[in-house]
Amino acid sequence: MKSLALHWKILIGMALGVILGLAGVVGGFGAFIQDWIKPFGIIFINLLKLIAVPLILVSLIDGISNLTDLSKLSRIGGKTIGFYIFSTVLAISIGLFLVNLVEPGSFLPEEKREELRSKYASEANLKMETANSVEDSGPLQILVDIVPDNIFGAFTSNVNMLQVIFFAFMFGIAMVMTPQAKALPVKKFFDGANSIILKIVELVMLTAPIGVFALLAGLIVDVAGDDPASAIDLFKALGVYSLTVLLGLAIMIFIFYPTVITAFTSIKYRNFFKGIFPAQMLAFSTSSSAATLPVTMDRVENHLGVSEEVSSFVLPLGATINMDGTSIHQAVSAVFIAQAFAHDLTMADQLTIVLTATLASIGAAAVPSAGLIMLVIVLGAIGVEPEGLALIIAVDRPIDMCRTIVNVTGDATVATLVASTEGELRTGLDEERITKEEKLEVQPRDKEYPID
Ligand code: ASP
Repeated sequence: MKSLALHWKILIGMALGVILGLAGVVGGFGAFIQDWIKPFGIIFINLLKLIAVPLILVSLIDGISNLTDLSKLSRIGGKTIGFYIFSTVLAISIGLFLVNLVEPGSFLPEEKREELRSKYASEANLKMETANSVEDSGPLQILVDIVPDNIFGAFTSNVNMLQVIFFAFMFGIAMVMTPQAKALPVKKFFDGANSIILKIVELVMLTAPIGVFALLAGLIVDVAGDDPASAIDLFKALGVYSLTVLLGLAIMIFIFYPTVITAFTSIKYRNFFKGIFPAQMLAFSTSSSAATLPVTMDRVENHLGVSEEVSSFVLPLGATINMDGTSIHQAVSAVFIAQAFAHDLTMADQLTIVLTATLASIGAAAVPSAGLIMLVIVLGAIGVEPEGLALIIAVDRPIDMCRTIVNVTGDATVATLVASTEGELRTGLDEERITKEEKLEVQPRDKEYPID
């Protein structure tokens, strides 16, 4: 019998976890759940956390060292990277604006939030002290903190992720500048290591149904205490949080990209949308920009008319570093968790989110759940307990499917934009092709990305 796709298993795990949690609250066996079920959830979170440092280190070094052609393509490269960063920062700002406006965390009652914080935050005071001492040390302390004085020190704590990213950039850039003969074996090593780490992520995600089950059961007992009604507050807050993320994603798809395409290219957005639609569907079903890449390239070249030269540079780079959907998700999730744990975020915290979420979305691998893992960095940087992931993990899969659509559409938009400004866009092709178009024919690369 064909086994069930992972996202179904996660949904089932989630539902069973909720049922068990509620039963535990009503039936008075909450303590049993805390002692015997919740630890499996904690193990799952630990697995995600343990993979974060190696994942960022290896995938960033590998990604940067692929840019050897950058000097040749410096103009195209400059435009592409410039626009990627611009759209990422814009996406984060939209996310921050929405989450501060809607305040999904406030759907949890005040006392619950305080309670959650003290329950999850054994080290909260310590972190707050660290945060305060950072504030005391002046505005440039954040820059000082990015540069580690000992790289092994940086590797030993998930809070110092920015230092790891800094080191990865230095290493990657130096690798590109080193003569090929010397750098090649190291490049091969990181290539291989990257595949291995992605495999580990895949394996960890196989345990997600059990992890989600245990986390949710534990969370409901934590939140509800002896009062089942307050579990409802959690669902309400999660629902509003999900809608906030979806609203941000919709703004990108229905307002931002159409504006760019209409303003800077000769393609009608309707045709752009039709051309890219199969890639969007594949992004939705695989939750992976990398798995979608071959289809994105095909659609962008053969249906939107972007030259191969532009698409083969812009799209693979974009799949790795440009994730507008992930960026929105990072911003909304970080602030939501902070709200739920009753942390007041200062302006400096919000700016830290812009910086770290940009880096996190650049560093996130183009595979399912990568964004969730990278959230550890953003939370660490603003002094919020990473256990907060437990709050949102249950709804992450459907959100991941939607944010991956935005990630892929963003890459296609930039490819079309760059091609148009370079005179590398064959117009008219889209209408011709689209009218002739047969049914969507999509070849998922399940073999390489067998997560689902
Ligand atoms: N699944 C996303 C992608 O592949 C990354 C993420 O988890 O946000 O684009």
